[in-house]
Amino acid sequence: MPSKQAVSKSSGHDYSNIPTDLLIGGRWIAGSGGKRIDVLDPASERRLASVADATEDDAIKAIDAAHAAAASWAATAPRKRGEILRKAFELMAKRVDWFAELIALENGKSLGDAKSEVVYAAEFFRWYSEEAVRISGEIGIAPGGTNRMLVIQQPIGVSLLITPWNFPAAMATRKIGPALAAGCTCILKPATETPLTAFAMASLLKEAGLPDGVLNVLTTSKSGDVVAAMMNDPRLRKLSFTGSTEVGRTLLKQASARIINCSMELGGNAPFIVFDDADLSAALDGAMIAKIRNGGEACTAANRFYAQRGIADAFAEQLAARMAKLRVGKGTDPDTALGPLVNAATRDKVVRLVADARDRGAKVLTGGKTIDRPGYFYEATVLTNIAPGSKLLKEEIFGPVAPIVTFDRG
Ligand code: NAP
Repeated sequence: MPSKQAVSKSSGHDYSNIPTDLLIGGRWIAGSGGKRIDVLDPASERRLASVADATEDDAIKAIDAAHAAAASWAATAPRKRGEILRKAFELMAKRVDWFAELIALENGKSLGDAKSEVVYAAEFFRWYSEEAVRISGEIGIAPGGTNRMLVIQQPIGVSLLITPWNFPAAMATRKIGPALAAGCTCILKPATETPLTAFAMASLLKEAGLPDGVLNVLTTSKSGDVVAAMMNDPRLRKLSFTGSTEVGRTLLKQASARIINCSMELGGNAPFIVFDDADLSAALDGAMIAKIRNGGEACTAANRFYAQRGIADAFAEQLAARMAKLRVGKGTDPDTALGPLVNAATRDKVVRLVADARDRGAKVLTGGKTIDRPGYFYEATVLTNIAPGSKLLKEEIFGPVAPIVTFDRG
């Protein structure tokens, strides 16, 4: 495997064979611009590796490759497609620890969270290996009674899969699995922060027997331009995007020009509500999972907490006590419960949202600041006395901060 840069070795696992060039038409290529993107360890801010930086020309080459492979992949027996996905599941299931540490390295999440992600991610390959052979249709009778209606399912064609950094393995397999099962060829555009997991996954799929050109992978520092080049190409038929609502909105506008079929999974702002008659211990268990899984960097994370007046103080104090006990450290350290945030921008957003809440009168029960060490660390934080207009009640915090609003039942 040609690799421009060896990835740092961490405890026990060797990552030096992960390809770091673009995957186009089954070949790893450096990209036409000759530039590289540094991949940083969020726990130390040190460089782990560098990956190829795709240009718009490379993006069109990826579409060429996906288009060239499309007819043959669509005609490949569903059983064969399913077997390749099944093999990918088996390979991934054997390498849970290897993938987990890689995710913990480049994303910063704890090893426990990373392991859960890999198991969840592999399940998409298993599920779609089983679905590949269940592509069915329907026969109906037209209301007039004279004609029969036949509905068949066909691969839509070349698909662009854009993934975020917070679940670098699971968001990729959740898109690659159904695309391959349905007979579609694709281009994966992973987030710039976590490209190594995507390249490792592509390598695993090659090992599982995926033909050249069926999956292509592009990393780029110019996501907007590179994705726009593909969205403008008439051969692109489908976009599957997981990421922020803001970028999703931009992509939906672009898709409307050519009426590209879209699947969107966007941001969240989930509430966590505790009533006076709640089982306090169970509520705290649930709150810790809802807030701290993935360090708070999950679309499903509880963004804001509402506690009824009779239970609010006890809930807040005990949540603060549990949050204060979390062991903070490098994601790759097996004892770590809370790793760093993924990058400086994400940490700075948390700083900004907490500052805004405090300016409006919020009280800090625990945490409330960055940690003075290399890496993008932020303390596990509980805030009370949240004013109604506070920005963290509306914007995704994406960090280990629990703002608690007290309410009275009218
Ligand atoms: P993001 O900034 O929207 O980025 C997501 C992906 O879009 C990345 O690959 C990014 O590439 C790319 N991108 C950025 N700007 C683009 C543009 N103008 N045109 C085309 N592509 C562009 O989101 P994120 O910060 O990575 O992820 C966090 C967000 O994802 C949160 O809002 C979270 O709630 C959401 N999310 C939702 C789900 C769900 O299932 N609903 C699951 C996970 C995450 P670069 O990295 O190069 O910028």
